[in-house]
Amino acid sequence: MTYKTLHTKLFGTNIKISIYHNNPDPILSTCEMLLTYYHKLLSFYDDESIISKINQNAGIKSIQVDDETFKLIQSGKLHSLEEKSNLNICLGPLVKLWDIGFDSAKVPSDGKLNQALKHTDPNNLILDKYTNNVYLSKKGMSINLGAIAKGFIADAILTYLKEQGIISAIIDLGGNILTHGFNLKSPTLNWRIGLQNPLEKRGIHLTTLELNDLSIVTSGVYERKSIVNGNAYHHIINPKTGRPLNTNMLSLSIISKESLNADIYSTMYFGIPFDEIELASKDKGFDAIAIYKGNILRYTKVCRKFRRDEF
Ligand code: AMP
Ligand code: MG
Repeated sequence: MTYKTLHTKLFGTNIKISIYHNNPDPILSTCEMLLTYYHKLLSFYDDESIISKINQNAGIKSIQVDDETFKLIQSGKLHSLEEKSNLNICLGPLVKLWDIGFDSAKVPSDGKLNQALKHTDPNNLILDKYTNNVYLSKKGMSINLGAIAKGFIADAILTYLKEQGIISAIIDLGGNILTHGFNLKSPTLNWRIGLQNPLEKRGIHLTTLELNDLSIVTSGVYERKSIVNGNAYHHIINPKTGRPLNTNMLSLSIISKESLNADIYSTMYFGIPFDEIELASKDKGFDAIAIYKGNILRYTKVCRKFRRDEF
């Protein structure tokens, strides 16, 4: 028995899946197939994806989707409609206008931003739970699942790995991490996860956490950004203004059992005052660590037990 790791690139980021098994190759091949399948299904940029089909038919007709996709969109809509939420899965028109992280990134005019903002109301995303039909009721609307898809995919891969009887694994979808079982290579048996210092190069960690059977997902201003006319713009858009969120928060990491929840909450609470995040964490059952400008750290109580060293 040994660990074997699949390394690949997808969603514009590095993917690593390590599993402990006596015959890991066929299982890792299936993992790679699953990654490609979900990418093709959920991509905003692939014209053939189901998400593109929904977007192409905005204001025209509804599209029937599979159960998994329906549940994902439904959960995205619910969390987009919460009162204290910076998540909105209907920000497709704005994501396209800014194009942050691509060579085509630009700062849109106020007119274009205001026009796009009119097409982002999640109430106009109509879901029929009896038929799995999804309909964007206004032309010009589009959904973008960039803020929640990786968590969903990590959970789906873990479900497959568990079905294969895997007892120890770590799934890392570009920093969106899900751990399973004990880390049999570590003396503490825990998975050690470095918390990126947002102001340093990639791989320079502010601290290390030890987790088991938990997911940690980080939203950060450093993760994807573009320099336009000498100014830096990050990729998390304020659903109210249509511009990158103006906040002292540099990153927000969420620790929770399911990677989908961690991914949802990391975007949903990005830029929200930490006291409110702390309240929500008790209610919804997650933990949070936020890093602010000036190297200020805030974290929920339970997070202490994950620390290896002093923050
Ligand atoms: P994450 O890194 O999980 O916080 O997701 C950020 C990605 O989701 C961006 O790269 C965009 O594609 C998209 N996005 C940007 N702002 C938002 C937002 N406020 N709500 C939902 N998705 C967003
Ligand atoms: Mg997210």
